[in-house]
Amino acid sequence: MEFIAPEIEAYAEGHTSPEVDYLKDLNRETYQKVLIPRMLSGHLQGRVLSMLSKLQKPKNILEIGTYTGYSALCLAEGLESDGSLQTIDINEELEPISRKYFDKSPYGHQIIQHIGNALDIIPSLSIRWDIVFIDADKSNYINYYNLVLDKMNTGGLIICDNVLWSGKVLLTDDKLDEDTLALKRLNQLIQEDNRVENLLLPIRDGLLLVKVL
Ligand code: SAH
Ligand code: CA
Repeated sequence: MEFIAPEIEAYAEGHTSPEVDYLKDLNRETYQKVLIPRMLSGHLQGRVLSMLSKLQKPKNILEIGTYTGYSALCLAEGLESDGSLQTIDINEELEPISRKYFDKSPYGHQIIQHIGNALDIIPSLSIRWDIVFIDADKSNYINYYNLVLDKMNTGGLIICDNVLWSGKVLLTDDKLDEDTLALKRLNQLIQEDNRVENLLLPIRDGLLLVKVL
């Protein structure tokens, strides 16, 4: 499901700062070589992540779900000069491509990659986060939210991607697939959580911004 008319989306992209060359190249290489390339954030969402990060000025960013590294590179644009971004993915086959592009960017030395299950890796990182981007397996989003919430700095920002799940969150029948059900539960849990302030932006597949009070 398209949430924004394609002409409006194109106009929005046309009036948004362009992608730098290494992001364009990473986009192209992902579409040529990797399965399910539409998982990559892309130009407009990438600029949203970059802008949010620049506004937040984070010292410590956690990304759950690296894929080929596009969103990590966009979030890294807002890092303080002594800050770092830790990114986790369970798929080791993606690491050569993401590392290659991290090292082509000005942020390579600030990006630390972890290969493995995020559920195991997150508790091993004793860092307080300023931004967390949740974008891995949808059935674990609530677990990731609960794991990171107590480790956020006050005023920190949690960003959850794909929370509209192509519009399937509107379905109400009792035979919903596991991922849709998990996302509906997450959206409701956050809506009722008085420790945070939240804003669901219908950008791309839905970005839920969660500011920790
Ligand atoms: N953030 C990327 C896209 C991430 S796609 C971007 O916007 O460009 C989702 C990724 O989550 C996939 O690469 C997948 O391998 C990873 N993933 C799935 N389950 C995971 C888990 N349990 N732990 C860590 N990574 C996981
Ligand atoms: Ca995503």
